[in-house]
Amino acid sequence: MSGAQADIGVTGLAVMGANLARNFARNGYTVALHNRTAQKTHDLMSAHGDDGEFVATESLKELVDSLKAPRRVLIMVKAGAPVDAVIDQLVDLLDDGDIIIDAGNSHYEDTRRREAALAEKGLHFVGVGVSGGEEGALNGPAIMPGGSRESYVALGPLLESISADFEGEPCCAWIGPDGAGHYVKMVHNGIEYADMQVIGEAYDLLRQVGGLEPREQAGVFRAWNETELASYLIEITAEVLEQVDAATGQPLVDVIVDEAGQKGTGRWTAISGLDVGSPIGAIAESVFARSLSSQRAVRDAASSVLVSGTENVQIADVGAFVEDVRLALYASKLVSYAQGLDMLRAAASEYGWPLDIGTIASVWRDGCIIRADLLDDIMRAFGGRDTTRHPEPGTTSADQPANLLFAPFFAEAIGAAVPAWRRVVSVASAAGVPIPVFSSALSYYDGLRQERLPAALTQGLRDYFGAHTYRRVDREGTFHTLWSGDR
Ligand code: NAP
Repeated sequence: MSGAQADIGVTGLAVMGANLARNFARNGYTVALHNRTAQKTHDLMSAHGDDGEFVATESLKELVDSLKAPRRVLIMVKAGAPVDAVIDQLVDLLDDGDIIIDAGNSHYEDTRRREAALAEKGLHFVGVGVSGGEEGALNGPAIMPGGSRESYVALGPLLESISADFEGEPCCAWIGPDGAGHYVKMVHNGIEYADMQVIGEAYDLLRQVGGLEPREQAGVFRAWNETELASYLIEITAEVLEQVDAATGQPLVDVIVDEAGQKGTGRWTAISGLDVGSPIGAIAESVFARSLSSQRAVRDAASSVLVSGTENVQIADVGAFVEDVRLALYASKLVSYAQGLDMLRAAASEYGWPLDIGTIASVWRDGCIIRADLLDDIMRAFGGRDTTRHPEPGTTSADQPANLLFAPFFAEAIGAAVPAWRRVVSVASAAGVPIPVFSSALSYYDGLRQERLPAALTQGLRDYFGAHTYRRVDREGTFHTLWSGDR
C-alpha cells in the first residue's frame, strides 16, 4: 500500500502497542505501523498481518505520510523520556490540527506540560489512560482520553470502537482537558491497589483466623463472586488460590515470595492525594502495605524483636466469620472507591477539569482491571452515564451525592455491613493479623460521621506553640489565646 490512506498510526509496537494496533485493524481501520527497531514491525506483520489492513513503515516520516488528515499518531512507547523523544521527532512532520496521542502510563503532569507545549504549535496532544493489560488492549480495554474536546471529535469514534463495551455502551468517554485522562487512569490504578489489598487482607484473616486453606478459600471467593462483590479481581483470586505448584504439590500461593511489586501509579495516586488535600487513607495504606512487604530484611529482624501481645482467638462459627469478612471487604472496598472518587473531585477543582463521576464510573464497568458489578451501582448513584454533563470543576451536579457513601443505595449497604466490619477489625487486632486497609477504611467511615473530631484539640495545640489561631463554634472570626506557656 502507498499514499495517505491510513486512519491511524501506531508507533511503539511492544506488547501494548501491537495489541492496540491489531484491535484497530480488527475494527476495520487501516493502521500504519512503526517501531524504532524495525524488526518489531516485521514481526507483527508476519504474525498478525492478516488481522486487517496495515501499512508497515520504517520511519516516522513514512508513518506520518501514510495518514489521512487530520493525522492521528498514537504513541505507545516506554513512559518518560522516550515519549518526549518521539514527540520531538513528530512535531516537525505534522500540520496544524493533527493529533498526537500518548496511550502509555504517563504521569499526568507530563501530559499537562506536553499538551500546553503542543497546543502552542497548533497540534492536539491527547493523553489517554488505557486499562486492561495486554488482553484488554487486544480485545477491548477501558479507555480514558483527556486532551481538548475538539480532538475527541476526530479521535473519539476510533477509541470508542476498540474499547470494551458494557451493555452496548463503550467503556470510553472524553474525560476532560489536558492531563485529565491520565489522572483518572492513575486513580483507577490507586483503587486497584486498594481492591487487591482488601482481597489480601480477607485471605489472610480467613487463613490465619478462620483456618481455611487456599483451596477451600478458592470456593469461598467463587461464592463471593455471586454476591455484590462480583468482579474480575475476586474471580481471578479464586483461580490463583486453587493453583497448585507442579514442582512441590503445594498451593502456588505458598511458594510465591511475599513481596509485592509496584510500577508507580499507586505511589503517584498517594502523592497526588496529599497534593490535592484528599483523605485517601485506604488507597495510601495499600501502597504502604506493598512497601512494607518489600522490606524483607526489616521484617526478618522484627519477627525476633517485636512481641505479638495477641489473644488466642477462637472462631466458634467459621461460616459466620467468613460472612463477616465478606462484609468487611465490601465495606472497605466501598470506602476506597469513595476516597478515589472524592480525590477526583478535589483534582477537578485544582486543575479546572469538569469531571463527571457518573460517566467515569461507566467507563470502568468493563475492560479494566477493577471492572465490577459495583461500578454499575456507582454509575447510577452519580446520575448515570451522561457524556454531555460536565459539572463546574470540583462540584457535583444536583442529582449527584457529595460522597459515594451518602448515596442512599451505598449508605444503606455500608450501614448493613458496619457491625460485621467492626467485629472483623476487633478480631484481627486481637489475633495480630495486619489489616491496614480494613482498619483505616473503618476509621475514615467513623471520622466522616463523627459530629466532633479531636481536630479542635489539634487547633488548640497549634495556637499554643505557634499562635496559628483558631475559630470558635459560637462566634465568627479568628482567635488567639494567651496561653500560660506564652512568654
Ligand atoms: P514498554 O516495554 O514500556 O516499551 C517498549 C517500547 O518503547 C518499544 O516499542 C521500544 O522500542 C519503545 N521505546 C523505548 N524507548 C524509546 C525511544 N527512546 N524512542 C522510541 N521508542 C522507544 O512497552 P509496553 O509494555 O508495550 O508498554 C507501553 C506503554 O504502555 C508504557 O507506558 C506502559 O507503562 C504502558 N502499559 C500499560 C499497560 C496497561 O495495562 N494499560 C500494561 C503494560 C504497559 P524498541 O523496540 O526500539 O526498543
